[in-house]
Amino acid sequence: MKRLQTEVLVIGGGPVGLSTALLLADQGVDCILVEKHETTASHPKASYFNVRTMEILRQLGVADDVYATALMPQGVLFYTRLTGHCLGGYNFTDFPEYTARVLASTGSPACVSSQIVLEDILKQHADANAGIRVLFGHEKTSIEQDGARVLTSVLDRAAGETYEIESRFAVACEGIRSSTRDACGRKMVGPPPFGHVMNIYVEADLEGLTGERNQALFWICNPDTPGAFIGLGGDRLKWCFNTPYFPEDGESAEDFDEKRCLERIYAALGTDSLPVKILAVGPWVLCGQVVDQYRQGNIFFGGDTAHSNIPTGGFGFNTGMQETHNLAWKLAAFLKGDAPEAILDTYHSERRGIAVFNVEKSRENAINIRDTGATFGGRPDDTDEIDLDTDRGRAQRAAKTRAIAEQKTHFLFLGQEIGFGYWDSPLIVPDGTDHYAVANDVDDPVHVYIPNARPGARAPHCWVALRDVPDKPIPMHDVFGKGFVLLTRGEGDEWSRSIDSGSAAVPLRSLSVGPVGSDSDLLDAEGRWDEVYGLDGQGAVLVRPDGHVCWRAFSGPSHHDGVTLRDALGVAVGGAISSPAR
Ligand SMILES: Cc1cc2nc3c(=O)[nH]c(=O)nc-3n(C[C@H](O)[C@H](O)[C@H](O)COP(=O)(O)OP(=O)(O)OC[C@H]3O[C@@H](n4cnc5c(N)ncnc54)[C@H](O)[C@@H]3O)c2cc1C
Repeated sequence: MKRLQTEVLVIGGGPVGLSTALLLADQGVDCILVEKHETTASHPKASYFNVRTMEILRQLGVADDVYATALMPQGVLFYTRLTGHCLGGYNFTDFPEYTARVLASTGSPACVSSQIVLEDILKQHADANAGIRVLFGHEKTSIEQDGARVLTSVLDRAAGETYEIESRFAVACEGIRSSTRDACGRKMVGPPPFGHVMNIYVEADLEGLTGERNQALFWICNPDTPGAFIGLGGDRLKWCFNTPYFPEDGESAEDFDEKRCLERIYAALGTDSLPVKILAVGPWVLCGQVVDQYRQGNIFFGGDTAHSNIPTGGFGFNTGMQETHNLAWKLAAFLKGDAPEAILDTYHSERRGIAVFNVEKSRENAINIRDTGATFGGRPDDTDEIDLDTDRGRAQRAAKTRAIAEQKTHFLFLGQEIGFGYWDSPLIVPDGTDHYAVANDVDDPVHVYIPNARPGARAPHCWVALRDVPDKPIPMHDVFGKGFVLLTRGEGDEWSRSIDSGSAAVPLRSLSVGPVGSDSDLLDAEGRWDEVYGLDGQGAVLVRPDGHVCWRAFSGPSHHDGVTLRDALGVAVGGAISSPAR
């Protein structure tokens, strides 16, 4: 039987699998990706690509292609029906302080596009990448491991030929119904599913109907066709209408033929005079669960294989993207011999809690949105007269308008997008400072993000210019991604000498940061570096390849009396994991 060999096999060519392959190749890891379908998906799901996702896509050189297809949304609106009453919404310009915080916190703002467009872009980049063998039309049929390697049987569906792939590791990104996760005996943990939803992909000029432009979502709040039209980026004629159906009442997914879909859509529009073309129809289940272990031997789980997210808040793919960004550099460090094997366990310990948090928050959003009369699951209450000009109808609309105002953290959640951190990880050296929410008396850390470089945090954004190109500031994140980076303030040479004098655990790039006009490597274009990195004219910050801070010193090396830079590097690659002191 034919056998291929690689360092890492990625199973699944959805958005997370394709990103994983690109991330591994970016770290110099040889990989093969197998996807059972001949082509990328034709039915969109995800549309909201958040700040952290766009930062990672920028690292991969993919973000500009995505922005070219995207919408920077104006907000979200709630209607009884699209030709009925508008009940309220969130116009982002009504939150100037929040919007200013978002713009100050990243060089890669969130956007709305379409998962089918994203997958197509990712596949083009993967196809063009010499470090990845992309095999679409290839289905994983079985997988086993013996401690040293993973052996996977793959069926080339067009040729009818089965062969084996031998890899050191495998990352299963097979979606919610992952057979690899089942074969590994792993279980999804969390509350049982609580609803069924039909996702109807349509072409229709909804904005022409409402007169409202550049909206990410039109929520529909009524008793018979609640749900949401999800906008799909720059193509303003493509939408997905998601509406619940009820198997307990005898409804089934098969009932949704073109006639039934059009009936539902016209009821949601409140008119049948608008031309609507049904492009695709597919069901999904409202379920928020997380796999019990992210790793089984040499097999790892990512994306929907690791967690099923209810899409309220848009944290499914976005969480998956962060996951394998966390994993890729660790696999590379181990494969290069820079880190012990134990570093790979920290994929589970660093990421699972964040997935649990995002899944719970998404579930909370899905439950709270019912109060507005719009829902993906369950039946809305108190909407029987919501369309009518009766006292009861007016009272129902007023109640729903009040409920919409309570959904702020469902739509404005910068803290959840980029405020997460690996605070208690054995790869992080704490510096005794508090979490930003505690330090700044923030009562809602999902909504509010305060830039900070507490060890564990995503390194904060600021604009910097390379010394030789002073007129073209770049996001600070552009200097991360390849290896560890030491950002130094003041005594940059001294810090460099402090590691030159002994062997560091891993290669390290040292970059000094100073004011515009100085001879530092990075020029602090807006004069914000000291503030957001929490330093005062001296000190240093160590940043991992995934852009998270793992150590910080508040003074120069001669006065620093905490964990030394060299020891911190050792910790950062797993050197302290088995230490009883931790
Ligand atoms: C209506 C809706 C809206 C959403 N909106 C958002 C949003 O705005 N933002 C967001 O972040 N998320 C959103 N999500 C969630 C998002 O779509 C998923 O999280 C995302 O698709 C997960 O990507 P994945 O690559 O992990 O899995 P999938 O997209 O499911 O891809 C898995 C791939 O693995 C392949 N595969 C499976 N088994 C095998 C095998 N044996 N061999 C080879 N290949 C195999 C499949 O064919 C598939 O291509 C939404 C979901 C829905 C339903």
